[in-house]
Amino acid sequence: MNVRDFEQGRCFLARLDLGAEIVSQISDLAKREGIKTGTLSAIGALSRAELACYDQAAHMYQTIRVEGPVEMVSALGNISLRDGQPFVHAHAVLADGEGRTRGGHLMKGEVFAAEICLQELVGQPLIREHDPATGLHLWGER
Ligand code: ZN
Repeated sequence: MNVRDFEQGRCFLARLDLGAEIVSQISDLAKREGIKTGTLSAIGALSRAELACYDQAAHMYQTIRVEGPVEMVSALGNISLRDGQPFVHAHAVLADGEGRTRGGHLMKGEVFAAEICLQELVGQPLIREHDPATGLHLWGER
């Protein structure tokens, strides 16, 4: 297990822009504010989205396309450094007009309305490195 402790830094609440791509808008905010490590949560509504499930045998993401409109019931994630830049890792549960949900790794989504809470964490930044056993970019020991 790889454990590191942090102090709480700044906490941001942000309303994202209509039509924006949610993951890139969150990473842009992190870059602009110099956030290297943090946690995030989000709720709102998306016009469409692309979720994914990681195929653990093939080491590839299987795409789940979600044609909206959908409620973003819950999205949770974190920010750490990958290739020297803030990288957003988020998962989301999305609900259609009948309340039926689909969930997965949030690849991208077109914002209809979204409110996010971004908690900066201050300490030695977590750095994502390629992990041969899983094929994922996981937090390294550095
Ligand atoms: Zn994921």
